[in-house]
Amino acid sequence: MKVGLMGGTFDPIHMGHLLAAESARDTHDLDEVWFMPSHIPPHKHEAGATGEQRLDMTHAAVDSHPQFSVLDLEIKRGGVSYTINTIRELQQMYPEIRFYFIIGADMVNYLPKWEEIEELAQRLEFIGVERPGYKLQLQTLPDYLQDRVHLAEMPEMDVSSTSIRERAAEGRSIRYLVPDRVYEYIIGSGIYAIQQG
Ligand code: ATP
Ligand code: MG
Repeated sequence: MKVGLMGGTFDPIHMGHLLAAESARDTHDLDEVWFMPSHIPPHKHEAGATGEQRLDMTHAAVDSHPQFSVLDLEIKRGGVSYTINTIRELQQMYPEIRFYFIIGADMVNYLPKWEEIEELAQRLEFIGVERPGYKLQLQTLPDYLQDRVHLAEMPEMDVSSTSIRERAAEGRSIRYLVPDRVYEYIIGSGIYAIQQG
């Protein structure tokens, strides 16, 4: 069985994340994609949603897809979420599964800086997708990553969680940048509205 892991802060989850996951699943014939909101140390992120809220929004976004699901292990573990710790845990639980980590172009270029990347690259493979504003440069990756990063074709989507938080704070529309159920959650809870007083 082949499983894609879609990691991120998902603050909030948006159409770019969903399309990246679906493109990777479709291109590489993945059986499932597991979305894993990462834990954010409290001091790093005062203005955003809580871990519980990010989990709720991720469920709201993916529960209707029969091959998508949500894993809460990084948020439950706390601290800084290093993918190497997560994959060690997952491979202990599911030794028969082959894992693929799905990332946007901004992350692909940054891979050599990931914690224990050489061991990580032996334990899983990466699937990269284009992201507007970032150039995917596989040829500059170190040798140990050369045959471990694959591409998935995806219509480029110029959307980020940062721009959605900003739009929401300014009172501008975020409809169709996030799934309807996530839109309703954000409007209903007022998470990204500017705090009064
Ligand atoms: P922020 O602006 O808060 O950094 P983000 O939109 O970059 O949020 P993240 O949660 O940081 O979202 O990203 C999770 C993963 O999704 C990363 O691998 C990132 O590259 C990828 N990703 C996010 N947005 C897009 C997009 N529009 N197109 C392709 N990949 C994306
Ligand atoms: Mg980001």
